[in-house]
Amino acid sequence: MVLGKKMFYKACIILCLFIQNNALCKTILVTGGAGFIGGSVTEALLERGDTVIVLDCFVSLGHSRALEYNQLKRDRLAVLKNQYQENLYIYECSIEDVQSCDEVFKTHAIDVVCHLAAHAGVRNAMESTKEFIQTNIQGTVNILDLAVKYGVSHCVLASSSSVYGDSADVPFTETQNTDYQSSLYGATKKSLELIAHVYHHLYGVSTTCLRFFTVYGPYGRFDMAPFIFMDAIYNQKALTVYGDGTAIRDFTYIDDIVDGIIKSIDKPLGYQVFNLGSTHTIVLKDFINVIAQTVGKQSIITYKDGIKADVRQTHASVEKALLLLGYEPKALLKDGLQKMFDWYSKVITKECNE
Ligand code: NAD
Repeated sequence: MVLGKKMFYKACIILCLFIQNNALCKTILVTGGAGFIGGSVTEALLERGDTVIVLDCFVSLGHSRALEYNQLKRDRLAVLKNQYQENLYIYECSIEDVQSCDEVFKTHAIDVVCHLAAHAGVRNAMESTKEFIQTNIQGTVNILDLAVKYGVSHCVLASSSSVYGDSADVPFTETQNTDYQSSLYGATKKSLELIAHVYHHLYGVSTTCLRFFTVYGPYGRFDMAPFIFMDAIYNQKALTVYGDGTAIRDFTYIDDIVDGIIKSIDKPLGYQVFNLGSTHTIVLKDFINVIAQTVGKQSIITYKDGIKADVRQTHASVEKALLLLGYEPKALLKDGLQKMFDWYSKVITKECNE
């Protein structure tokens, strides 16, 4: 009889834990879920037991290795699909295609939208103005409209440090003026923040906009400085620096960004804007030296005239994110670059040599 009671209590505890765990598991739509940040968020969400719906159209603008980068995204998702099976759904469609996106929202009971799909990069935006406006602004409106239509109460959206324009007021804080954009890309992200506020105000959707500061790490974008520099140094090719190399950047390791995104997914806070940076800055020339040390080869640098859309400095204050989300960036640049180079050696150089 005593044993029976004990077993009953044990079963109750197991049942409670099961119910609790299931209640914590969410269904999350990750737009741009095949990309650098999106793929990493998808992986982390799957690891903790969530169901992830990836919506991505596998595009990459403004660089010669777009096909290769898109293939990398496909390969990465294929590995995750193989591992997580029915917890991962992948839809190849554009956020500009409202009808196809509607089908995705109709099919799945989505708890949270993590909207990362966009065209990115200040220089790319100068070449592809129309695409940036269509995807980053109209696409965002489409996703928020569908969130309202299907009763999704919380959306996390990717903004950018670019919204600070060429501000000299560092470290950047969320309350400072961001009316003066230096790039069309920054302007599309500022628009995203304004639109997100409208959807919160009119429809009560919780919208959290995250301003990412230059993210680097494994699976990094092929059109971004960390990858371009590492690749050039490894292959002993000249790398191009626009300007005199004294620009200052706050580089943020991918794991810290993923941590901030997941904390935001888990905590609806009405309308909010947060910086997600490392808070440590480095001059571009020194950054190149750290990569060269990591790779174990010399850099060959060609200087070209600076581009007006490139800002002089970025530097995040993350006090607000620490206070409200518990966001604490941990990675040191040296360690983050080492992890990126480990990945680069394993995945990229291997593919190139095959
Ligand atoms: P990424 O290019 O690797 O990922 C973006 C993904 O969006 C890609 O997989 C692409 O195929 C997809 N996409 C583009 N247009 C689409 C469309 N119309 N429909 C569906 N999918 C589409 O870029 P990332 O670096 O992972 O950036 C993710 C988000 O974070 C973007 O919104 C970007 O603007 C923002 N951001 C990134 C950084 C950074 O340093 N990487 C900094 C600030 C902000």
